[in-house]
Amino acid sequence: MPYYVKTFEWHALLLNLKPVVFLEYGPGEEKSVKALAPVYAAHGLKYAYWNMRAEPLARYKDTRNRRSFCGLFLSRKTELIDRLIAAYQNDDTLRIGRLLGYPACCTEYMAGKLARDPEVGLCVSNNAMAAGLPVSPGAIKLYSPEMNFLSHYDGRISGRELLKLPAFARIFSKLFPFTLTDHLPCSLSCRKSAARGRLVSAVIKKADPGWHSEALDLNGSPVLYLDNFRFYILKGTGTFGEIKFSGIRFATETSSRLHLALKRAGKIRRLGRRIALFSGNTEIFSFNHEEKRPALLPFSRESAGAL
Ligand SMILES: [Zn+2]
Repeated sequence: MPYYVKTFEWHALLLNLKPVVFLEYGPGEEKSVKALAPVYAAHGLKYAYWNMRAEPLARYKDTRNRRSFCGLFLSRKTELIDRLIAAYQNDDTLRIGRLLGYPACCTEYMAGKLARDPEVGLCVSNNAMAAGLPVSPGAIKLYSPEMNFLSHYDGRISGRELLKLPAFARIFSKLFPFTLTDHLPCSLSCRKSAARGRLVSAVIKKADPGWHSEALDLNGSPVLYLDNFRFYILKGTGTFGEIKFSGIRFATETSSRLHLALKRAGKIRRLGRRIALFSGNTEIFSFNHEEKRPALLPFSRESAGAL
């Protein structure tokens, strides 16, 4: 499937975990999107296109540069597609979430955030999410690949300027297609999100083992997280206080002193606000970080089955 038909969403749809899938693509891709119509039909799916330039859906009007985007809806029933379009037109978050198949608790969480801060529109911040993550020793098992939200670019986009950031382009082209969730979970301990992610992941593992392995590498590895647009996924294992690693799987940038130091380091330690990088036992770089965020996210390949 091309990138705009996300593997996770496609399989979730076929598993009937999503009543409707809504996908966005650029006008230049219209031909290839429409060429896939026989594939949708072969799976018993109905589809509809939406011209965002002619009629932007409510929530896309102001917050993002959606005028150049087109929409594709896929579902087993035309009626469900019509309902989702109406829900978008009415900006009815709860109904949108239900029709996209998100757990009710996660949709309510999102709706609550939007109600509190309508200025931000759809942009529930990954920073805010990271700031609220649990960091007790027992919480480590919550950091499973299915609950990794870093590939969720929605949380990062609040204006067209952000779309031009090199970091955004890197996240979008590398992480976005390999996501193992289709929504921001209400918390890392959301059992419904975890169970749903685990179910879809197990099916993809059989259907496309190469894709699944890459998705586990990217979503199931520890992260040095600074903010939405600055984070580093590392080859290794970690806790909230220390990551031991043998290389960088993904970096949002590759030209800072921090990145240079990461290439030489094999260990990161966090002590309060201070983050220090080590090569062997020698400290080679350090900086202070905002304490409110857990800068070391100990994601691991272990599935949410541990919950
Ligand atoms: Zn939830």
